[in-house]
Amino acid sequence: MVYFDNAATTKPDKAVTLAVCDCMENEFGNPSSLHMLGVKAQSVMDNARKNIASALMATPETIYFTSGATESSNLAIKGAAGAYGRRKKRLVTTTVEHSSVKEIFDSLEKEGYEVIRISPGSDGEFSVDDFTEAVDENTCLISVMLVNNETGSILPVKKIFSMAKMKNSEIITHCDAVQAFMKIPVKPADLKADLISMSAHKIYGPKGIGALYVKKGVRLLKQNLGGKQENNLRGGTEATPLIAGFGKTVEMLSGNVNERLAHFEKLRKYSVEKLSGIDGIFINSHENSVPYILNISVKGIRSEILLHFLEEKEIYVSSGSACSKGAKSGVLAQFGIDPKLEDSALRISFNHENTKEEIDLFVNALIEAQKRLKR
Ligand code: PLP
Repeated sequence: MVYFDNAATTKPDKAVTLAVCDCMENEFGNPSSLHMLGVKAQSVMDNARKNIASALMATPETIYFTSGATESSNLAIKGAAGAYGRRKKRLVTTTVEHSSVKEIFDSLEKEGYEVIRISPGSDGEFSVDDFTEAVDENTCLISVMLVNNETGSILPVKKIFSMAKMKNSEIITHCDAVQAFMKIPVKPADLKADLISMSAHKIYGPKGIGALYVKKGVRLLKQNLGGKQENNLRGGTEATPLIAGFGKTVEMLSGNVNERLAHFEKLRKYSVEKLSGIDGIFINSHENSVPYILNISVKGIRSEILLHFLEEKEIYVSSGSACSKGAKSGVLAQFGIDPKLEDSALRISFNHENTKEEIDLFVNALIEAQKRLKR
C-alpha cells in the first residue's frame, strides 16, 4: 500500500497506540477524582500538556485539551467573539480557511458581526497590506491559518499578526496550525498568536483529540458548558487515553523537526522533477509551500475517477479540491488555479516514512491512467 493522504489523517505510531492502551488499562481513573486513580490519570494529562507546551515553547497552563481542531477553533473564535465582541463587531479572516474555521465566521456573520475575508492575489500570495486595510479599532479578532490543507501554501501569519497588533493593540489573533504543528516551527510568541488550534491525528496521534493554545490573560467565553474541567474553559471528562497518545506523539516528534523537513524536501523535489516532465500534469502548489503537501492536476481526468483508479492499485490520495466527502471548497480557485484544472486536482501528502520508490509507483500509475482514462 502507498499512503499519500497524510494531510487527511495519519496512521498512528505503534508507540502512540501502546500509550493509549496503557492508559485505558492502567490509568483509567477520572482525573477529577480525589483518590489515587484520579491522581494517576491527572499526571498522564499533566505530562501530555507539558510535552505540547514545550513543543510550542509555551507553559503548560496555556494548553487546553479539546476533541480536535474543529472544537479548538470553535472555542477560540466564538469564545473570543463572545468575550470581546460586544462592542467590537469586526472580524477578519481569509477566503482559504478550512471549513472548521470558515463555517464559524459564516455563522457569526449571521449573528450580526461584520466579517472581512481577505483573498490571495492572482499569484496565490497574500498581501499584508490587505489585512492592514481591514483591521481597525473596531476589530476584535483576526484568524489566519498557517498552512493551507489543500495546497500546502504557507501564509505570512507572523507578518499579518504583528501588523494587526501594531494597528490595534487589543486585537485577538487566532491561527489554525493543524497542518503545521510538529512539521514546521510553530511558536506563539514568534507568530504573535494569542490562540492556536492543533490536532493529534495529523501527526500520528489518535483521532478525536486536539488542543487550543490560549495566551495567558486572553479571555474566552466557554462553549462546552457542564463541568469545570480544563481550568473551567471546557466542560466534560477529559479523554485521558487520547491525551496520553497525543502527548506521546508530540514527545516522539520533538527534536527532529528539521530532519523530517529535509526528508520531505527530498520527496517533494523528486516528485516535482518526475511529474513536471509529463505532458498534461500540472503542479498546482506554489513555491512558497510546505514540502509535505503537493497539489497536482492530471488534465482531462476528473479527480474522483483518478482517485478510485489509484485506489485499485492500493495508492491512496485525496481529491485536491475537496473539503469533505468530495464537495468542492473553492479554495484552489482562490489560490489562482485555473478552473479547468480544479476538477482534476489531486492532493498528495507525505509522512516521514514515504519513499522515492512509492513516488515511482504513483507516477507510473498516473501515466497508465492518462493512457486509459483520459477523455
Ligand atoms: N484545520 C485544518 C487546516 C485541517 O486540515 C483540519 C482537518 O482536516 C482541521 C482543521 C480539522 O481538524 P480536526 O479533524 O481535528 O477537527
